[in-house]
Amino acid sequence: MQSSNEYIELEQKYGAHNYKPIPVVISRAQGVWVWDVEGKKYLDCLSSYSAVNHGHVHPRIMNVLMEQSQRVTLTSRAFHNDKLPHFLEKLAKCAQMEAVLPMNTGAEAVETAIKTARKWGYMKKKVKADKAQIIVCDNNFHGRTTTIVGFSSDEVNRKGFGPFTPGFKSIPFGDPEALERVITPDTAAFLVEPIQGEGGVIVPPEGYLKKVRKICTEHNVLLIFDEIQTGLGRTGKLFAHMYEDAKPDILIVGKALGGGVFPVSGIITTWNILDVIGPGEHGSTFGGNPLGSAIASEAIDIILEENLPHRATEMGKYFKEGLKSLESPLIKEIRGKGLLIGVELKREYGGARPYCQRLMEMGVLAKDTHGQTIRFAPPLIISRENIDFILERVKKVLNH
Ligand code: PLP
Repeated sequence: MQSSNEYIELEQKYGAHNYKPIPVVISRAQGVWVWDVEGKKYLDCLSSYSAVNHGHVHPRIMNVLMEQSQRVTLTSRAFHNDKLPHFLEKLAKCAQMEAVLPMNTGAEAVETAIKTARKWGYMKKKVKADKAQIIVCDNNFHGRTTTIVGFSSDEVNRKGFGPFTPGFKSIPFGDPEALERVITPDTAAFLVEPIQGEGGVIVPPEGYLKKVRKICTEHNVLLIFDEIQTGLGRTGKLFAHMYEDAKPDILIVGKALGGGVFPVSGIITTWNILDVIGPGEHGSTFGGNPLGSAIASEAIDIILEENLPHRATEMGKYFKEGLKSLESPLIKEIRGKGLLIGVELKREYGGARPYCQRLMEMGVLAKDTHGQTIRFAPPLIISRENIDFILERVKKVLNH
């Protein structure tokens, strides 16, 4: 067996350097815990950017994975399969909507929402040909395709990848008046995260989602919520928009939908929107495959049956109170909802990365985001005891 350092060196030698991981090499996982190749145990506080809401290697998901993988895994959409229909029904119903277009990764689902909104703009709203505009927010993160990075406000995401797709306008996040000001007759949609995750766990002012819902309705603009990170229980509701009863026209989901084992994503919407997409106009070879569909169906059932949103609320409250009680002089702000928590450090103490590294050495895996912020997003099955384990270590790292 090789050492962690040997694995890291090999990866550096042959793999693109498009990530800068915390130097831990994971070889096994169970629930909230992961183990490195030397056998050291860590508590996972990132959950693969909220894709492992159920906890690692959930027995029910593993059973479905093994059972379905012996039957049929891929059919393409050239044929029907017997797992997709019930998955679509379950996903549409849990979001209280009507129709789904399944894809694989988050970025693909965002692209799907963009294409659907543009087509709806031309066919239903009668936007002038090739003039459809989509409004987005500064500091957004919606993925890594060329179209999506084109409307990012982060220079690292954009620089060197142009020219970009036109038709996007960016406004400040959390400011409904800014939205109203930039809407024109050519505006097809407003695309926004209910809480900006990669942007540093930024929670908008209370009432924001409801206000943008109202503005979009008044101007016949589609409201698209990207809940790839905030959805499926993470913030304490099944979907974060449910806090304000602000139902979108298109809801984008991904990450935890795949139960932490398989990429499954999609858009959920209504028929008067999704009927603009006809045969041959959009799709993906793996989108809606039977293995992913079976896993995602089970992933939804588990979230509902184990009441993971409620757990995220309870444990999130306990976690946040614990962080506050540390009274660390390094902390500028603690924010977030449910188990999506950001701890922003004061600038004079440098970036968050060295603190994440120290946490790793003490057995807690968390990741810095946006320079100053440590994100804590453990699996939603986490217990009070597990949180005490984390807090003990955070206290040592942040109170020196
Ligand atoms: N949208 C949001 C809100 C995300 O947080 C992410 C990933 O972090 C994405 C889209 C992109 O998802 P993926 O990495 O699966 O393409």
